[in-house]
Amino acid sequence: MPSITDKVALEEHFTAPGLEPSINDVAFFDPDVLRTIEVALPEFSDQRLKAMDLAGISLSVLSQTAPGVQSIQDAALAVELAHRANDFLNKRIDLAPKRFRGFACVALQDVEAACSELKRCVLELGFVGVLINGATTGAYLDEPRFAPFWHTLEQLDVPLYLHPGLVSEHTQAFRGHPELEGAVWSWTCDTATHMLRLVFARVFERHPRARLILGHMGETLPYMLWRFDSRAAVTPLGRSLSQPPSETLKRHLTVTTSGVCADAPLRCALEAMGDHAVMFSTDYPYEDIQLASDWIETAAISPDQRIQVCRSNAQRVLRLG
Ligand code: ZN
Repeated sequence: MPSITDKVALEEHFTAPGLEPSINDVAFFDPDVLRTIEVALPEFSDQRLKAMDLAGISLSVLSQTAPGVQSIQDAALAVELAHRANDFLNKRIDLAPKRFRGFACVALQDVEAACSELKRCVLELGFVGVLINGATTGAYLDEPRFAPFWHTLEQLDVPLYLHPGLVSEHTQAFRGHPELEGAVWSWTCDTATHMLRLVFARVFERHPRARLILGHMGETLPYMLWRFDSRAAVTPLGRSLSQPPSETLKRHLTVTTSGVCADAPLRCALEAMGDHAVMFSTDYPYEDIQLASDWIETAAISPDQRIQVCRSNAQRVLRLG
């Protein structure tokens, strides 16, 4: 049995009807793995709750799996499906309100509608933030037209979980190597670059209260902080930033352990970002929830760090009270 039985996990996925990933989105999984995922994504009762119990997870924050509404070209349809997905999730949370909370799904194809939907989800449904699956039909969140969305996040004081999504174009380095697309590597490149675009586009200078969460141990960013500062300092744009990139990342970003169950990157993330900035997550049902739990129970970190990672950091970041 796990020794910490009240873990909080916050990169835990479901799918709402109409937003199931297409076979192309998940084609790289083995058929057996794919079948397990397809069964688990829309399931909220015995299987999910039992897996959480065995892993010592008392609370899962659920989010619509990728690509969700981010890849839908028809803006009105995306807005409608996001609204329906949030209502669907809210009903499922009501079945086990002590075990589940929600991240909103919003369609940034229509920025005004996304802001309204986020307000509805947080203020009326009690969701604790929003999760975006990468670029919205190719658009990254540093574009000026997304300013009202950043303003809404600040107003509501909820975090944005920036999760990988579909990568519509791969660079020449991926040519002839489809095995590097997706979770093996290209999602990491895309999501880390998305975060750095926000830093260098000064989004956080304009929105000083904005807070982000990255999964997968910070998508390699904690490992690279020194180099970002060193190399940005020899560019005119880098020198004109209000503070070094590492300071912006440390001030506005927290990371989760989803999909990375290894001590060395965990200790790097804790040392680079701070003990307050790392949170346990499992990436259910894509990753092995039990393996993630068994690992964090015995990872080579201090008892205080383990409690922060497993529970107290998430309680603070998500205002769980
Ligand atoms: Zn995930």
